Amino acid sequence: MALERIARTARNGFRRSSTGASTRTTEKDMLCERASTRNYCSVPSLESETRSNSLSYLSSISKVNHNRFLSRGISITPNYQFPFAERIVEESDSECNEPKYPGLEATRPGEKPRVVVLGTGWAACRFLKGLDTKVYDVVCISPRNHMVFTPLLASTCVGTLEFRSVAEPVSHIQSAMATSPNSYFYLASCVGLDTGKHEVYCETVSDGGLSHEPYRFKVAYDKLVIAAGAEPLTFGIKGVKEHAFFLRDVNHAQEIRKKLLLNLMLSEHPGISEEERKRILHCVVIGGGPTGVEFSGELSDFIMKDVQERYTHVKDYIKVTLIEANEILSSFDVGLRQYATNHLTKAGVRLMRGVVKEVHPKKIVLNDGTDVPYGLLVWSTGVGPSEFVKKLNLPKSPGGRIGVDGWMRVPSVEDVFALGDCAGFLEQTGRPVLPALAQVAEREGKFLVELFNRIGKQDAGKAFSARDIPLGEQFVYKHLGSMATVGGYKALVDLRQSKDAKGISLAGFLSWFIWRSAYLTRVVSWRNRFYVAVNWATTLVFGRDNSRIG
Ligand SMILES: Cc1cc2nc3c(=O)[nH]c(=O)nc-3n(C[C@H](O)[C@H](O)[C@H](O)COP(=O)(O)OP(=O)(O)OC[C@H]3O[C@@H](n4cnc5c(N)ncnc54)[C@H](O)[C@@H]3O)c2cc1C
Repeated sequence: MALERIARTARNGFRRSSTGASTRTTEKDMLCERASTRNYCSVPSLESETRSNSLSYLSSISKVNHNRFLSRGISITPNYQFPFAERIVEESDSECNEPKYPGLEATRPGEKPRVVVLGTGWAACRFLKGLDTKVYDVVCISPRNHMVFTPLLASTCVGTLEFRSVAEPVSHIQSAMATSPNSYFYLASCVGLDTGKHEVYCETVSDGGLSHEPYRFKVAYDKLVIAAGAEPLTFGIKGVKEHAFFLRDVNHAQEIRKKLLLNLMLSEHPGISEEERKRILHCVVIGGGPTGVEFSGELSDFIMKDVQERYTHVKDYIKVTLIEANEILSSFDVGLRQYATNHLTKAGVRLMRGVVKEVHPKKIVLNDGTDVPYGLLVWSTGVGPSEFVKKLNLPKSPGGRIGVDGWMRVPSVEDVFALGDCAGFLEQTGRPVLPALAQVAEREGKFLVELFNRIGKQDAGKAFSARDIPLGEQFVYKHLGSMATVGGYKALVDLRQSKDAKGISLAGFLSWFIWRSAYLTRVVSWRNRFYVAVNWATTLVFGRDNSRIG
């Protein structure tokens, strides 16, 4: 009975087409189908298609079979992985003969085309922001309902900024999802897709809220935009996932802040040995890229100002060590690297060369056998393709991202596009895979949404309808430079277009001012811009908030 209720609730929650069953197999059949039973073929030569500058080549897909991308184009989650959804189907089937699997069916003639967007990161949100909702309905699916302004995330770990200042609710970015009858935001993860049927399969987020176990549903799309980001690289090192903190999301920053403050308070307890006090107050950062350096800079600011004043009993015990296998900030100009090294050392950050072999609950072991005890360990060694992306049966770029062409399309399948950290140019395009940066993701999102709005106005928004539409210029990325703050009102600004190019590079207070001004103007909404400015001013006047909440 409980399942029946849930099935009913789920059905009510999702709009369905009542006529879909006549032309399509039943929902249950769809779920039972295996990728191997379908005969999807592959991509015609990209080179020639790049020249043709249109989607027309896709019409020839069914006639071409390239072994290189064997059975690509379909990535369906096997039936046995849908236990709950299946039970819903079975129970409901006994009631009447309608298809019962919950979800959004394909759009009908006369309805607006539906764009499904996976993710709420930089790429997805820039795309959502610009989408013409007079032309399209939009469904966004993501396990978080906000975009994180990642360049300022490190500042939230020590209380320079509050968490809400860097989180932008997705309904503020694209209000149609809150107000338009056929546009939705679903708090869920995509777990599989069937590019032939133009459907994505999703699983609801399980933590709290729902009165039952997570269940799966499907959403049919006319156009699909995958912008599901990347995951931290751990290189399979034992103990990293269990004991280290990552810094990718607001909840990571919250955990780091709680642990830092907890360690500070615990270290004051009577009866703690000197050695243990030193250990719990030792903050270790692994990875000397911009994120690791910025976090170390924020920590040293926090220690030099706030800990000195408010934790005077233990102020001499707290230390920060940054461990990097090669050089810190390797993509920056050599002069800037040197500046950062000197500045961090002066600010009390110990820079250490080393490669982590394994991580234990209280210490890390380096390859040379050195033990490094820690109380807080933050892991920031770059990102790679997520498990979701790895499992998708789509062409891959060098490095394992979803392979795209110059229009961010996934060739070999129709109406699928990929953006941001999860996408990379296919080798055949002759373009390099772009770095995992917000500026790349944002500009790809802008490029694609302009393309969508253009083709939507030419009635090419529906599934399989953009074949003969000229797509215009391909995406071109021009690097605007890199910035990183190192703490103490100092930052680095490297305006060179590439590592080997010549150009302006600055370090110091002026760079810090440029860094702050640039990011303040990039914050998505006026509300958050205001929060950020007020947080900065409050921190300057009153110091950082050190209440440990939650
Ligand atoms: C601390 C930090 C600081 C940074 N600073 C800078 C900087 O100063 N400048 C810069 O250019 N770049 C910076 N970056 C890098 C930048 O944030 C990323 O390159 C950018 O976020 C990539 O955007 P994206 O949209 O591809 O992915 P993300 O922003 O990571 O978003 C991915 C989205 O997909 C969702 N998702 C994941 N799996 C699924 C699924 N299965 N189904 C549906 N949704 C899913 C996630 O919840 C998320 O909403 C920084 C990154 C970090 C972590």
